[in-house]
Amino acid sequence: MYSIKIPDKIQIGGHYFSVVVDEGLSSDGNRAKVDYRRLVISIHPNRKDSIKSEAIIHEVLHAINTVYLNNQIDSEDIIEPLAEGLWQVFEQLGIEFDFGALPDETKK
Ligand SMILES: [Zn+2]
Repeated sequence: MYSIKIPDKIQIGGHYFSVVVDEGLSSDGNRAKVDYRRLVISIHPNRKDSIKSEAIIHEVLHAINTVYLNNQIDSEDIIEPLAEGLWQVFEQLGIEFDFGALPDETKK
């Protein structure tokens, strides 16, 4: 396995999105979300690694869609399978994501 440490900042276009873990996401049922106003991608810490890995790809695709495509993709029915497909290929190539270094925003 090749382990890729997810950094606490990811550049998308001219923007730097902070990446954090946040247990508070469970209250609205999400495993992850992207906040364009604050430029923050939040990941729920208590999910299986494969779920978190697909979820961060999913949120990055949303951000790419906003930054580069002016939100031309307006459906989860497109984002979701793209994210799942990309994660499946990464996983098959022996790539895993390490979320261990991300700051915890749960109690902020
Ligand atoms: Zn989505």
